[in-house]
Amino acid sequence: MEETTDIQNQINALRERVREYDHAYYVLNTLKVPDDDYDRLFRELTDLEERFPQFHSKNSPTQRVGQKPDSSFEEVRHAVPMLSLNSIFSEEEAMQFDRRIREQINSEKIDYMFEPKIDGLAVSIVYEAGELSLASTRGDGEVGENVTGNVRTIQSVPLKIRGRNPPRLIEVRGEVFMTRSGFKSLNEMQREAGGKIYMNPRNAAAGSLRQLDPKITNRRPLDAIFYSIVRIEGGALPSSQSTQTQQLKEYGFKVSDKGEVASGIERCLQLREDLMRRRDELDYDIDGVVYKVNSVANQELLSYVSRAPRWAAAHKFPAQERTTVILNIDVQIGRTGAVSPVARLESVELAGAIVSNATLHNEDEIRRLDVRVGDTVIVRRAGDVIPEVVAVVKNKRPSETREYVFPDTCPVCGSKIEREESAAVSRCTGTLVCSAQLKRGIWHFGSRTALDIEGLGAGIIEQLVDQSLVRNVADLYKLTLEQVSAIERMGEKSAQNLLNSLERSKRTTLVKFLVALGVPHVYETTAATLANHFGTLERVMQATETELSELRDIGPVVAESVSKYFQQERAQDVIRQLMDADFQIQEVETAAMAEEVTSKFEGMSFVLTGTLNSMTRAVAKKEIERLGGKVVGSVSKRTTYVVQGVKPGSKLIKAKKLDVQILTEPEFSELLQKRPSIGQLVEWMTDPKKIGVNLKRNCLPLCMPTITLWCRWFFTVTVVINARASYCPQ
Ligand code: NAD
Repeated sequence: MEETTDIQNQINALRERVREYDHAYYVLNTLKVPDDDYDRLFRELTDLEERFPQFHSKNSPTQRVGQKPDSSFEEVRHAVPMLSLNSIFSEEEAMQFDRRIREQINSEKIDYMFEPKIDGLAVSIVYEAGELSLASTRGDGEVGENVTGNVRTIQSVPLKIRGRNPPRLIEVRGEVFMTRSGFKSLNEMQREAGGKIYMNPRNAAAGSLRQLDPKITNRRPLDAIFYSIVRIEGGALPSSQSTQTQQLKEYGFKVSDKGEVASGIERCLQLREDLMRRRDELDYDIDGVVYKVNSVANQELLSYVSRAPRWAAAHKFPAQERTTVILNIDVQIGRTGAVSPVARLESVELAGAIVSNATLHNEDEIRRLDVRVGDTVIVRRAGDVIPEVVAVVKNKRPSETREYVFPDTCPVCGSKIEREESAAVSRCTGTLVCSAQLKRGIWHFGSRTALDIEGLGAGIIEQLVDQSLVRNVADLYKLTLEQVSAIERMGEKSAQNLLNSLERSKRTTLVKFLVALGVPHVYETTAATLANHFGTLERVMQATETELSELRDIGPVVAESVSKYFQQERAQDVIRQLMDADFQIQEVETAAMAEEVTSKFEGMSFVLTGTLNSMTRAVAKKEIERLGGKVVGSVSKRTTYVVQGVKPGSKLIKAKKLDVQILTEPEFSELLQKRPSIGQLVEWMTDPKKIGVNLKRNCLPLCMPTITLWCRWFFTVTVVINARASYCPQ
């Protein structure tokens, strides 16, 4: 008796916690615990409920989907309920799922539709006569929220389905999500504007889709992928998941390119393994994969349990969010002096990697989270994003914690830390004296996107700077073999390799060189804009702030930063030293230079007469046109030049009559300022129509001097020998 009361209490407590987390997740759109913890709790509750059916309750959170819709939105009753998916967490559970299905439909092997489980939120969209008429969220599965206006703003959702004869009505289901890059830039913007920071892309997608003002949704980077058709009127429902996907594609919906029919559960597991390994390559979060019985007839046979279909399962991936404890908070100094707070964590496994550090972004973020040493926090790691602290579990805070105070002096050089006006960044002001900035700067200089100096690792940089061998990047090129070999754990061979890499790095492009300098705000794209516009390093260095801000993609902040950087005597001095070290920077043919060339013959018309020796007429025409001129068929007063080849026709006579300037072929070539390319020569020499003429006219003249020389030499030698023979007195 006592035991059952205990179980009842345990179940009630679990239900209460799940309810609380559900409310936070579905209604407030926040996380109180990571999904992984929630899933474990939910599983514990379902297991207990299964073992003790006497405590069954219709009101248990395990018996329903999601939450009641928010009253701010108009309610939509779903014609076909929008259910959840049962989760499986291991291969064993996947095998069990398959076994149950095979038994129920009495089949040896099942064809499954394998799909990624996109971590977003479900939408259902109705199209009437081919046009989008209603879009809703899942809500509690029976009743959702009308989000039609918001869904209309998502570019990848067709407002009208493709094809001439759309069905009278069709209802499709899919997932609205936010890409990782979109999520990152949204949070950056929100941080700058002091707006709401979202914890993960799912949370951001839900927050964006459930905005009351569609104009806000419109500004959010939302995307959608569709996976099923649940209703068709005036047409037949495709008989399998895979044909539904095909049909969706034909209607113009975006479908996953990772979905495929898998024969048997083993194939599903294999595909899951592959996708899990490539998970980071995707620009959107997936929290697992979904296995769905492919045949709709079999799906109907298998039917549903309370909140999920029996014919599908979500096989979850390792968590991307976990809770752990903050051991300490440090700050790191970047190459431009930016101060980044880092949380040192109790190590935790996150999405397949051990994580012991996470970024806290900046002072404002620490304040917003009110994160303290000793706190239990939720840490997230997804894709190539640096792990970050996304929330503090406040009810686990120990009593003796203290608010974190952001340092006002640099922990490396002791200089003052100053907050940039109108930005969240704090910087160490010890530019010249701060070895942390110098080390980061050198590391950046040799990194892949910059000069790609193989062998210049963080450990070596550390020693080079600490031993005062390198005080700026130009000093790298003054290092001797002896100095480098003396570095700890550096053999002579590695030292020589590093010197060779340094030597190689001197031949570089303007873009890479600009990136390497580490001008604040200048990364590859801006460097390419500068290089393409100015062409040479000198011109970039001389550009004024106004000139810079006139460039596309360059705003006032970047313009100011570039101009300020090159005005610094120290920067000029380092660049001079690099040039003295024999740097060779490949210049860029700028748009202005190209324009100069292409407009050289602008407004000029040319008439070609006779055969040209150095190029075909087609090549000549192409060259004239490339430089902005045009080739016309007959001579008139408006003709600028007549180009005269071998055996000119009547056009030459007419040109003389009209006093049009005549160019010989060499004069024309000079005007082009271009020798024919090898390709042009080959094209011309091998033209089948002219090969005979060309050989006679061009190869013979080319060979003639050689033949003449040989003849002369032979004649001279013969004469000399004869003369000597006749001179020699026997
Ligand atoms: P679910 O997200 O696990 O699975 C169902 C949903 O998957 C569908 O509604 C659909 O939106 C989505 N989905 C993505 N790709 C799909 C595909 N290819 N085919 C079909 N559906 C696809 O279920 P749920 O009920 O929405 O949410 C439960 C999950 O939410 C939990 O497992 C947990 O991870 C998370 N959650 C977390 C908390 C928390 O406090 N951390 C609270 C509640 C829920």
